[in-house]
Amino acid sequence: MSGRYPAESGRYRSLAREGQAPETMIVACCDSRSAPEAIFDAGPGELFVLRNVGNLVPPYAPDGEFHSTSAALEFAVQSLKVKSIVVMGHGRCGGIRAALDTNSAPLSPGDFIGKWMSLIAPAAETVSSSTFMTATERQTALERISIRYSIANLRTFPCVSILEGKGRLSLHGAWFDISTGELWVMNKDTGDFERPEMA
Ligand SMILES: [Zn+2]
Repeated sequence: MSGRYPAESGRYRSLAREGQAPETMIVACCDSRSAPEAIFDAGPGELFVLRNVGNLVPPYAPDGEFHSTSAALEFAVQSLKVKSIVVMGHGRCGGIRAALDTNSAPLSPGDFIGKWMSLIAPAAETVSSSTFMTATERQTALERISIRYSIANLRTFPCVSILEGKGRLSLHGAWFDISTGELWVMNKDTGDFERPEMA
């Protein structure tokens, strides 16, 4: 075998014996260009990664439906006891584009994507109605608004809000600029996203 596996096989063996104990959970998009392990140069066992279309966290809703995102969150917080959760959005996100223009390619509403992205429909409608902004500006704005929205939804989960209140869990936002390879970090106080050299 070639690639990363031979170099890391020892690490996999010890992880298999001892189990995983990642301290950070990343919520990222499925987009092939926004892979958290590559962006953070993380090895096996370091990051607990949840990826879905548009890196969204839905609100807490224990209603008997199928909630893969909430299940992963519950496991990370209650079993792995991660110390931080990072919601990482990215530029040129197709899911966000679909939320802004429900007729757009490549993501048509389909059977599932339209429903999933309707989580941010109110924000998408507000951003879409801003004729002062260009299409690119609207896209970037909604990408960042959706990160703040997901962080707010994280706090609707009792397990998250209780541990955050005790100082045992911290929530963060980040936005990856695919075109430059820069990771912008959300300022916790203002919600603004700051370039790496400014943060
Ligand atoms: Zn995306």
